[in-house]
Amino acid sequence: MSDAAIRTILIAGGGTAGWMAAAALSVAFQPHQCRIVLVESDEIGTVGVGEATIPPIQLFNKILGIDEREFVRATQGSFKLGIEFVGWLREGQRYFHPFGRYGDDFGLTAFHQQWLRAQTLGSTTPLDGYSLNHQAAYRGRFEIPTPQSNPVFSTFSWAYHFDAGLYARYLRGFAERRGVERVEGKIAEVVLRPGDGFVDRLILGDGRALEAELFLDCTGFRGLITEALGTGYEEWTHWLPCDRALAVPCARVADPVPYTRATARQAGWQWRIPLQHRTGNGHVYCSGAISDDAAAATLLANLDGAPEADPRMLRFTTGRRRKAWNRNCIALGLASGFLEPLESTSIHLIQTGISKLLSWFPDRHCDPLLAAEYNRLVDAEMESIRDFLILHYQANERDEPFWRQCAAMPIPDTLAAKIEMFRANGRLIERPHDLFHPTSWLAVLLGQGVAPAAHDPLADTVPPEELAAVLGGMRHVIDQAAARMSTHQQFIDRNCRAAPASAITQEPHP
Ligand SMILES: Cc1cc2nc3c(=O)[nH]c(=O)nc-3n(C[C@H](O)[C@H](O)[C@H](O)COP(=O)(O)OP(=O)(O)OC[C@H]3O[C@@H](n4cnc5c(N)ncnc54)[C@H](O)[C@@H]3O)c2cc1C
Repeated sequence: MSDAAIRTILIAGGGTAGWMAAAALSVAFQPHQCRIVLVESDEIGTVGVGEATIPPIQLFNKILGIDEREFVRATQGSFKLGIEFVGWLREGQRYFHPFGRYGDDFGLTAFHQQWLRAQTLGSTTPLDGYSLNHQAAYRGRFEIPTPQSNPVFSTFSWAYHFDAGLYARYLRGFAERRGVERVEGKIAEVVLRPGDGFVDRLILGDGRALEAELFLDCTGFRGLITEALGTGYEEWTHWLPCDRALAVPCARVADPVPYTRATARQAGWQWRIPLQHRTGNGHVYCSGAISDDAAAATLLANLDGAPEADPRMLRFTTGRRRKAWNRNCIALGLASGFLEPLESTSIHLIQTGISKLLSWFPDRHCDPLLAAEYNRLVDAEMESIRDFLILHYQANERDEPFWRQCAAMPIPDTLAAKIEMFRANGRLIERPHDLFHPTSWLAVLLGQGVAPAAHDPLADTVPPEELAAVLGGMRHVIDQAAARMSTHQQFIDRNCRAAPASAITQEPHP
């Protein structure tokens, strides 16, 4: 290794971001190559939310060599096939954003263009009829495909719901077994190097000093190191106006469904995340449009089961750090910004932040060119997610002042162009850094009432009888495949049933 190689990485913070980073770096480096030290404060604790994910987390687990079933068992997890949005367009309406794909492309166009054409020819089958994820989700079914499964499973995709506390504990065990050193203590001071302003060391409350060449700021909303570097924050509250959340677990009253539910409320929305041992709930709202008491009352009045704690409040400002990588510090997780939890993208952004860091890994000089490229990629990814989230708020026909204000807000040009194109002819603009694929945009555009005026003229090249036969065949195969899956609960019982919650040993919170 060169003399300039990084010998010590210091991870500040032990929430999901800190332990994901520690686990991934422990796989990338042997302890003799690079020391990985994580400091966290039991007194401060973690945000303790972040229970829903999106499919790329499978890749993270795969790279770490984590067994899917063991992971679900250890985190009281369940499987997620998508998100059901209730009341987002207007009261009483609902739609489903499935993972996976709708149908299969045929002819010269995207599948949904054939579906649009079929509608003009009199078909009444909703697009949902062509999503295996949707069909399985609403039947409460789940199965992990095997190589012998019907080829229709190539359109099927899943993620997980899990207990955030258990996830951090699981990753901590993983990382510590691979040599990551954990330090308990409260960071009291960030000392910068005179001259270049790089972070030199962290001083703990008891006077201990922690030195490293590279620092990962995973201290949550505090962004301790990032703040010390004067990094600055770009607010997006004019597009994503919710700024508080109340979170409360409640008793499980039925078998967990394999999807998240997001229900629009007077000035925000409520999540429901089914786990094996309980259901996670939260109300995300705009404090300027509803009081905390009213938000809490709404949350508690809309739980499936008895609350298992008092609602816990979290305050946030939507937006991002001006530089995720500044000098020799990379901010990950909430320290790098927060959009909002609607599409479960935060844990994913931690994952992609780590993988970008490994792609552009520096030596101790931290070449600004590397940081600039990293920041460019992070910015593009966050902007694309931001646009997708804004779509949910802006394209609504609800009647409350909060929602009317969202419908009237000016939106980024990048989003306006996507909506305009889709409205005109059903075409979906794809950009290189889009996290969400056409299926996702399609589900939310249609769900939020953005209806295309026309379809791709190339769809007309398929004769109507052939179109009806192909669509009918797909529908049938999807129906059959969904009907044959085991129920979600059966799948969990057979493969990844967790110990009862009462049997989970109460270690100190990591
Ligand atoms: C309401 C809400 C709902 C969410 N839902 C989802 C979701 O469904 N899906 C999803 O992907 N994401 C979700 N998120 C985001 C997700 O919770 C976070 O991205 C994830 O938990 C990572 O948090 P973190 O590790 O950055 O911060 P934290 O969990 O806050 O961890 C910060 C760590 O830093 C330590 N620390 C702080 N200050 C000091 C100090 N002075 N000294 C020492 N240690 C210190 C703390 O002790 C802690 O260990 C949600 C977030 C919110 C607010």
